[in-house]
Amino acid sequence: MPMFRPLPASEEAPATRVRTSTPTVFRAAAATWPAVREWSFPYLASLAPGLPVQLVAGNRETERTRFTTSTLGSYLGSLTREAHPDEVPAYLKEFDLLKEFPQLRADLRSRELFPSGTIRSSATWIGPSRARTGLHCDLLDNLAVQIMGTKRFYLARPGTVKQAGKESRKYDAWARLSLIGAEELAAGQDDGDFFVADLEPGDVLYVPAYWWHEVVNLTPGVLLSGFFGPRTRVLSRWAWVQARESLHRAGLLGRGDCTCHGHPDSRTRRAPGSA
Ligand SMILES: [Zn+2]
Repeated sequence: MPMFRPLPASEEAPATRVRTSTPTVFRAAAATWPAVREWSFPYLASLAPGLPVQLVAGNRETERTRFTTSTLGSYLGSLTREAHPDEVPAYLKEFDLLKEFPQLRADLRSRELFPSGTIRSSATWIGPSRARTGLHCDLLDNLAVQIMGTKRFYLARPGTVKQAGKESRKYDAWARLSLIGAEELAAGQDDGDFFVADLEPGDVLYVPAYWWHEVVNLTPGVLLSGFFGPRTRVLSRWAWVQARESLHRAGLLGRGDCTCHGHPDSRTRRAPGSA
């Protein structure tokens, strides 16, 4: 087992601490948010049980990208039941919960967390035990708020994946991906480069841009995650991402190997002889 050191916790306000570009956990910084105290899977399901949702099957960062579909009610209902250990976890990722249900904004206190004058986005990651996001790094700073359940973050210093020669060519609009997982990467490497943090409801984690991280649910849970940064930085990264997205949509970049389209071999094949 490689050495992952526990990520240091800070008592400082996240908005102060994020200027240091050092990953940090803020224990219970969101513990009093109504979302943390009151949300449940049945409550969220009740908001729109029939809403269609697209789920990621398995680890799309290191494996083929596969999607399944469900409804919000049926999916959230499944999270309250024990999953079979062989089942491939289906993960509702980057779900814009606050856009779907703007009334839920009243249950958050995001303004307390983020530095003033920054632009930010937010999305939710909702999934069962063992739901996993493979090792990757993002182009912007991120603050993640654990709303329900327990989630483990493995973190690796910027540059460690490149040094190991394990950068992936798989296309992702806002992230860079690794060919291997955090534990494989950390095996035999310098202890000082690898950290772990388990988030409980109300905990907040700061992941600076370009820090590699792999994330796994230890229990079913909900994470609210927001990218942020100074206006000029966010807009310049956004413009660069949009240019690459245009190439990707035109089939000129990352065709057949991306996190946003199902892998061609994972689609249902047409039966022989059918039109
Ligand atoms: Zn794609």
